[in-house]
Amino acid sequence: MAVKVCKFGGTSMADGNIINGVKNIIESDAERRYVVVSAPGKRYSGDVKVTDLLYACHCELVKSGSCAAGFAPVRARFESIVKELNIDFDVKSVLDETEKRIDEEKSEDFTASRGEYLCARVVAEVLGAKFIDAEKVIFFRADGSLDGEKSYKAIRNALSGVERAVFPGFYGSGADGRVKTFSRGGSDISGAVVARAVNASLYENWTDVSGFLACDPRIVDSPRRIKIISYKELRELSYMGANVLHSESIFPVRKANIPIRIKNTFRPQDEGTEIVPSSRYIPSGCTVTGIAGKKNFTVIFIEKSLMNSEVGFIAKVLEVLAGENIPIEHIPSGIDTMSLVISSEQLEDSKLSRVLDGIKKAVEPDVVRVIENIALIATVGHGMSSSVGTSARLFNAIASADINIKMIDQGSSELNIIVGVNNDDYEKCISAIYCEFFNK
Ligand code: ASP
Repeated sequence: MAVKVCKFGGTSMADGNIINGVKNIIESDAERRYVVVSAPGKRYSGDVKVTDLLYACHCELVKSGSCAAGFAPVRARFESIVKELNIDFDVKSVLDETEKRIDEEKSEDFTASRGEYLCARVVAEVLGAKFIDAEKVIFFRADGSLDGEKSYKAIRNALSGVERAVFPGFYGSGADGRVKTFSRGGSDISGAVVARAVNASLYENWTDVSGFLACDPRIVDSPRRIKIISYKELRELSYMGANVLHSESIFPVRKANIPIRIKNTFRPQDEGTEIVPSSRYIPSGCTVTGIAGKKNFTVIFIEKSLMNSEVGFIAKVLEVLAGENIPIEHIPSGIDTMSLVISSEQLEDSKLSRVLDGIKKAVEPDVVRVIENIALIATVGHGMSSSVGTSARLFNAIASADINIKMIDQGSSELNIIVGVNNDDYEKCISAIYCEFFNK
């Protein structure tokens, strides 16, 4: 029988009633055998996520030497969840033991991971499933990266003969044997690792939205939902700020061609968005899949006559940036010009002037100019490469909205076209592109 791995996010774990709804979801499909959970999230706006309470708890521990006061709200949260669930589970002993270990370990990662740990203990109890501690089955290398092969093997061993299991997301064991977390939102990665380990037929990622929207709903009112999207398109959109899924969570499942489906715990009947391994699975006729963007970039424009024939010119410029440890987002270039597009926060303090001095010394350019407050907007879709006139439509839409384009970058995969506009034009530009491709 096919196996599905289901990851439930923080809002799906927020209180006992919701967790009961999750139980129904899991039990309504016999293939949903392995579950990965986040720590309980916000119950209402203004509430605090358990993981945030735990980070505050760690600060308290560092300050006062004891985690008791910081742990109290976490304790209260889990006590109320267990009460709402009305299960026979000795939550007090588990909380006492957790608090003791937080005091002993004195580690930020360990403390932060306890939201997932406690939540998975509770959910395992609710489902009558086996609890498998991520500490024993998810491993990181000394450089902090995920040790996939070692983790997949350990997960498979732990699951042998197990009908249903619950894993805490977000953490595993570091190379030093101590608990280590992924970056924030990392339970998505844990879910993908488990899905890969068991070669799941589907990785279901349960959230509080019915899938990805074609653009930010704060900018366009009720944008269209994306029914199907490829891993590559998703990577582009999430890199540009569309946040439903942790952008690294794609990698473990991608290699094994496992599709991901984003589902809504609060509207399980909704189809959600399916993320598929390649554009082959996407029906033809979809030109643009989605639009996403980010504000606050700086463009360093460099001009020098005969730049194209000067061997090593770009390498010398890049060396200056590497020397300052600054990542570059894009490098649009012309015959005698090149631009570096860099996130403005990377150039704070005196870094920008050091970079400019460095470039002047390294390549003696004719002109170096800095353009600040730039927003980048990516229009993404596999269909763009095969439909003639897509860029004409895009640029026309932007021009009709009276927006000046400061930069254009089309990836050679023709998967996206990125435009740079003034920060102030960001929202207007996204609306104009959306209207052109989705609302006509
Ligand atoms: N609980 C962690 C966080 O808030 C991880 C997760 O939810 O995926 O970032």
